[in-house]
Amino acid sequence: MEHFEYNLASYGIVINMLLRVAICIECEKTIALSSLVLHIRAHLKFVDVPCGLADGLRASFALEEALVWPKTPIKPIFPIPIEPEPLVFCNNCNKGYATVNSVHSHQRARKCSDTLPPSDTYHNGYGQLIHIGRARGYLEVIVNDLVKKTDKQIDHAALFMDNLGGIRDYANMPVRLPEDEMNLSSFYHRDGWLQHLEGYTAADLSEAYRASTSEDPGGEILRNLAYRYLREAQENIKTHSGFGLMRALGSVMPTE
Ligand SMILES: [Zn+2]
Ligand SMILES: [Zn+2]
Repeated sequence: MEHFEYNLASYGIVINMLLRVAICIECEKTIALSSLVLHIRAHLKFVDVPCGLADGLRASFALEEALVWPKTPIKPIFPIPIEPEPLVFCNNCNKGYATVNSVHSHQRARKCSDTLPPSDTYHNGYGQLIHIGRARGYLEVIVNDLVKKTDKQIDHAALFMDNLGGIRDYANMPVRLPEDEMNLSSFYHRDGWLQHLEGYTAADLSEAYRASTSEDPGGEILRNLAYRYLREAQENIKTHSGFGLMRALGSVMPTE
């Protein structure tokens, strides 16, 4: 549950709107409003917890000092663990106990049947241990639609890939010129290759120099034309400006 003023996650608590209580995520326990600020400060020594937090939450979420006990099973409450063993629940008030004897002594004490006829009926179910001030009680929860951890298929590879995130796809990033021309190696600087590549991505370049396939109509014709163009250009370079090392570097065609 979000609060417009307080960042509850930063205090390590969640608010359960059904029980109208605050729950400490680290202790997995409901925390009474009266001790909430002290409780958070005990966990987070360096966090400034406002004194008015408990009152603010009480007002915003209509929280109660004593939690509202549900009369029917509810969905499990985050982050309280579910008890591994089944429990015995009083049919009157739906409070849970570890044994039939203890549910019967609860019923004999008539703690739950002030306004109801006495009952000694009970049912079995699963529960979560809830702390109410200094007392504790088991709350019945619905576990039918929960998936056991051991039954859950975990795709470790997918989890790993999901968590990688944010990897730059260099293949699809446009080639950029360095801001400082002096950073260009003399070869690139002199021959100006980068100017021709600017704006294209590595994927574009890879596409440009791959061999043509049957799905590329005219690929072979274009290749031959480009080959002829380069050969003629090469002749011109040799004839008009090529000499020495420049000539060797400029030579992209096999020499006769
Ligand atoms: Zn705690
Ligand atoms: Zn009862």
